[in-house]
Amino acid sequence: MTSASRLQGDEIRTDDPAPRFVVVGGGITGLAAARRLALLAPEAVITLIEREERLGGKIVTERVDGFTIEGGPDSFLSVKPRGIGLCEELGLGGQLQGTDERHRRTFVMKAGRLQRLPEGLTGLIPSRLGPMARTSLISPLGKARMALDFVLPRKRDERDETLAAFIERRLGREVYDRLIEPLMAGIYAGDGRQLSLAATLPQLRMGEVRHGGLIKGVLASKRAGPIRDPAAPTRPPFLVPREGMDALVAALEADLRDRGCRLITGVAVTEIGQDPGGSAYRLRLGDGQILTAAGVLLATPAFAAADLLDGLDSGAAVALRAIPHVSTATVSVAYRAVDLPRPLDGYGYVVPRIEGRPVLACTWTSSKWHHRAPDGHVLIRGFVGRAGQEAVLSGSDAELLALVREEFRQMLGITAEPLLHRVFRWPQGMPQYTLGHLDRVAAVEARLAARPGLLVAGHAYRGVGIPDCIRSGETAAEQVLAAVQAARSREAA
Ligand SMILES: Cc1cc2nc3c(=O)[nH]c(=O)nc-3n(C[C@H](O)[C@H](O)[C@H](O)COP(=O)(O)OP(=O)(O)OC[C@H]3O[C@@H](n4cnc5c(N)ncnc54)[C@H](O)[C@@H]3O)c2cc1C
Repeated sequence: MTSASRLQGDEIRTDDPAPRFVVVGGGITGLAAARRLALLAPEAVITLIEREERLGGKIVTERVDGFTIEGGPDSFLSVKPRGIGLCEELGLGGQLQGTDERHRRTFVMKAGRLQRLPEGLTGLIPSRLGPMARTSLISPLGKARMALDFVLPRKRDERDETLAAFIERRLGREVYDRLIEPLMAGIYAGDGRQLSLAATLPQLRMGEVRHGGLIKGVLASKRAGPIRDPAAPTRPPFLVPREGMDALVAALEADLRDRGCRLITGVAVTEIGQDPGGSAYRLRLGDGQILTAAGVLLATPAFAAADLLDGLDSGAAVALRAIPHVSTATVSVAYRAVDLPRPLDGYGYVVPRIEGRPVLACTWTSSKWHHRAPDGHVLIRGFVGRAGQEAVLSGSDAELLALVREEFRQMLGITAEPLLHRVFRWPQGMPQYTLGHLDRVAAVEARLAARPGLLVAGHAYRGVGIPDCIRSGETAAEQVLAAVQAARSREAA
């Protein structure tokens, strides 16, 4: 029996005056996609379905006893335009805050001690030679090897390589292990020996191709400056709404309701079929409802999209499942400031994989951001779990807390009892853009090209950051709308 014949339900009404769209997944991608659809086709009937009771997906902010605790992302990059752009459209522009400049310094662990990250890194790469010359993070030999970047020839062949292979080839192993790897792991929780350069940081390879060296490329792009309106205000590199990341979710939810979108939460989509004529999709929901839609946008993690497509397009499902994911957790812990042996003057620290420790980074949240802890109190967040080091997550919440507290004891001298703590787990929460990722995404897109009006979007494909996800959702919304409008024009002709 085909999935189309199994998914019998309400009548498919392809002659509806208004096209119907369903967005599956209420993370930032799905919310941004639904809004774009509503803006471009105000007459359309738009339904967003989210499995959890709350919207936001990886964005979750908890407020407790005056603390503002982020379980997932704590900010977004300002250099990528759709983060700020969407916030401004939603009236949140004036609420965006940057990091607390009084504490602007970050540390890297070396042999169990914290050393200051050299100033002047542009997109992870050193672009000021003075701070690099002075840092004790890299040995004199490592610095000499790094300088070879200025004379080493560029790679001739166009084949993709891993992030580690590229950095080691240009700057040497020590710079990769001690500097680039821990910073990169903070973004992808990944293993640079598996991540694709073309899928993660293609601009670095472009620097080599165009300017003959990685540092030369970074210096050239710095000289050229960012492409932006000279009249636009200069923004701090990272931004977050003062109230917390979920202010963005709340504003999107209110905006979607105002525009008449139907938001269904606490119910999963369990299956998708297509009517035999191919002009409409049927979605089965966990509560037994069946919805029909001319356009469907799957803004779920890739493996969840695969589960939905198993019956409809097993080839697409196989391609989606080939995108690996890693599990992580964040553990936020609150203290009274007087209970700390010394103030936390900085944004926190990252831990290179070669240090062999279970905690990969530690953010001193209340020093990095304003308004995250009441006066006289401190909030710290530890990151646990990364590619190849996920076993630690099998522990209970109490064990994860103990692990993070032991890290704080060793590195920050904190032995006091916490006032409160929160553990947020992200099983399979970080897609890994490993070597061949762009081919895998192309394979997914090629399969779905045969099914007009059905698209995927989100962090698994072309960028994990919040602005990338917004752009992905909005672009997919434009594509799904164009496909549906083209089909309707054909039918009308
Ligand atoms: C710990 C952590 C820290 C991060 N820090 C940052 C940061 O500081 N800055 C930054 O820019 N990015 C950060 N990221 C990345 C960023 O948060 C994510 O990439 C982004 O939020 C993903 O959004 P999404 O909408 O694509 O996916 P998700 O947020 O995963 O949303 C997908 C939604 O689909 C729903 N769903 C799944 N299956 C179904 C179904 N069958 N039916 C209905 N609904 C379904 C899920 O419940 C979920 O709500 C971080 C990520 C993590 C995990």
